[in-house]
Amino acid sequence: MAVIFDPNCIFCKIGRKELSADILFENDAYVVFKDIQPKAPVHLLVATKNHISSIMEIQEKDKELIGGLILLAKKIAQDQGIAASGFKLVFNVGRGGGQVIDHLHLHLLGGWAVPAQKKVEV
Ligand code: 5GP
Ligand code: ZN
Repeated sequence: MAVIFDPNCIFCKIGRKELSADILFENDAYVVFKDIQPKAPVHLLVATKNHISSIMEIQEKDKELIGGLILLAKKIAQDQGIAASGFKLVFNVGRGGGQVIDHLHLHLLGGWAVPAQKKVEV
C-alpha cells in the first residue's frame, strides 16, 4: 500500500530519503534512525512510514501497526546489545508531553554505563 505522507513533515522526509538521517533499519512500514540530539548512549527513533501525527490519532485499524512498532523496538534493542541491561521506550504525546515532531515515533533509549544516568528526559 502507498505510504501516506505529509510533504512538510521532517520524519516523512527522512522516511522518503528527502532528508538525511543515520538509518539503522527500514522496511515498507517503519524506519529506525538515530536521534539527532541523543539523550542516552543509544537513542533511536522508531517511526512509522505513514504520517500519523501522534498516539492521540491512532485508531482500531492501527493496532497491528503499533504492535509491530513495539516488536521492532524490541528487536532493535536486542541487535544493539542493550536488551539484557535494559532500556526505555517512550512516546511523547502532545506539547505538554514533550512531543515536538508531530509524526508517530517511539524513543528507544539505553546503553547507560552507570545505572543512575538512566534518569533521562526526552
Ligand atoms: P519528540 O520530542 O517529538 O518526542 O521527539 C523528537 C525527537 O526528534 C527529538 O529527540 C529530536 O532530537 C529528534 N529530531 C528532531 N529533528 C530531527 C532530525 O532532523 N533528525 C533526527 N535524526 N532527529 C531529529
Ligand atoms: Zn510525517
